[in-house]
Amino acid sequence: MANHEDIFKKVISHAKEYGYIFQSSEIYDGLSAVYDYGQNGAELKKNIREYWWQAMVQLNDNIVGIDAAIFMHPTTWKASGHVDAFNDPLIDNKDSKKRYRADVLVEDHVAKIEAKIDKEVNKAAKRFGDAFDKEQFMSTNPRVVGYQEKANGILKRLGKSLENEDLADVKALIEELEIADPLSGSKNWTDVKQFNLMFGTKLGSTAESALDLYLRPETAQGIFVNFLNVQKTGRMKIPFGIAQTGKAFRNEIVARQFIFRMREFEQMEMQYFIKPGTQKEWYEAWKEKRMKWHLSLGMGEANYRFHDHEKLAHYADAAADIEFKFPFGFKELEGIHSRTDFDLANHEKYSGKKLQYFDPEENKSYVPYVLETSIGLDRMFLAVFSNSLQEEELENNTTRTVLKLPAVLAPTKAAILPLLKRDGLPEVAQKLVDDLKWDFNVAYDEKDAVGRRYRRQDANGTPFCVTVDHQTLEDETVTIRHRDTMEQQRVNMSEVKGIIAKEVAMKEWLKRI
Ligand code: ATP
Repeated sequence: MANHEDIFKKVISHAKEYGYIFQSSEIYDGLSAVYDYGQNGAELKKNIREYWWQAMVQLNDNIVGIDAAIFMHPTTWKASGHVDAFNDPLIDNKDSKKRYRADVLVEDHVAKIEAKIDKEVNKAAKRFGDAFDKEQFMSTNPRVVGYQEKANGILKRLGKSLENEDLADVKALIEELEIADPLSGSKNWTDVKQFNLMFGTKLGSTAESALDLYLRPETAQGIFVNFLNVQKTGRMKIPFGIAQTGKAFRNEIVARQFIFRMREFEQMEMQYFIKPGTQKEWYEAWKEKRMKWHLSLGMGEANYRFHDHEKLAHYADAAADIEFKFPFGFKELEGIHSRTDFDLANHEKYSGKKLQYFDPEENKSYVPYVLETSIGLDRMFLAVFSNSLQEEELENNTTRTVLKLPAVLAPTKAAILPLLKRDGLPEVAQKLVDDLKWDFNVAYDEKDAVGRRYRRQDANGTPFCVTVDHQTLEDETVTIRHRDTMEQQRVNMSEVKGIIAKEVAMKEWLKRI
């Protein structure tokens, strides 16, 4: 079996080869951690965004969507705490001159301990077979318990030092754990420093009058500053939500791992405004709802887990991540944060404007609490794409590369293929394209032998291939081939639309939530 690095490399090269993701400004050798979506990537990304938007906005009477600007008044970022607290602890290696996030170095060290636990569990599962009880094993096996305690202890200490801004202790922890530079192996570290992640820019035409701005590091603040506008004009009653998707920018210290950590990325965020005191129940409810959304895509329950935060962001009173098993291990995909009244109360303070809700049931005004769900669209893209890319051994000892995208998200729903480029077959196939294109993205392909064309569509993630052959001319039937099973059915041309619709309709997938 290929190792993780090879699998990840394959994901990156496949994404490029099939027009999903290109490096930004590639002809100039690219720009670090900035990527462009190609013809297929743009469609897949749009479909993921739409799947989120329909689940959040269209299917919830009390959630509405907005589209706020990327530029915001600079005081926004004072109020939100980003000017003072949106920092990552960085550390440099004196020998390799490489820069790292100090917390990530420690977390990667913990991940190695966790990998040891997984190894023990897998070994035991093999040994005990059907009788294996994972939970019992994890809580009683001395070696596993020891690893677990060690991992928890390290994370707890890291969380505490970061919370207390005790950067000397973060460095001490790195030294005590004997963490080495992953590239050079050197343990010669500088002190840990804070680094602000916001990108600055200027608005205005003359140097004297130019206003210093930031590119927004999260979309959430565009929602907070519009809270009353939406509440009043939409006559929203608490609890209610405001959703938005859009670009965010962070000057990440270390941005490797392809589109997992980018400097320009897109978020899909929803702020749910609630009565103070109800945050615990909404926190649990949204954790569950969001997990269900993920599971509805059928990418395997075992690939998801919750991770409760020890280290809380400056605005949160509880926070959990939904983690996904990426090719490089379980990592954060989405965050669910109980943000209290931190943001609205601070915007009140800095703007001098009231941001309160009059609750007719309580007959009083208050600053609502907020429960946030925040998912990176690009990270979701990577989760879907990497999980879908598979190499299959076929019966005739060949392999095929197939991109088993959830059909609802696939860029192209069907490819229409004339068996031969003559005898009137292309004309019939083209007619079918013209009929189907009103409902789905469809492609027409007449180049190469039909087997090659099937493989090409498999690798592209197209759920259906429809082949027009000589029999079609006689009885109006075509073969429809299913990407995942490779099964072929002979059906009447008039049935094709219905068969595709059943598999790709967003409604059918959303009903599973
Ligand atoms: P991380 O710990 O990975 O830096 P975070 O906790 O800072 O992420 P949040 O501020 O909670 O992330 O942002 C919400 C979501 O936005 C994340 O769950 C992730 O999916 C996405 N996201 C954050 N930073 C990036 C980035 N640099 N590139 C791509 N997606 C990102």
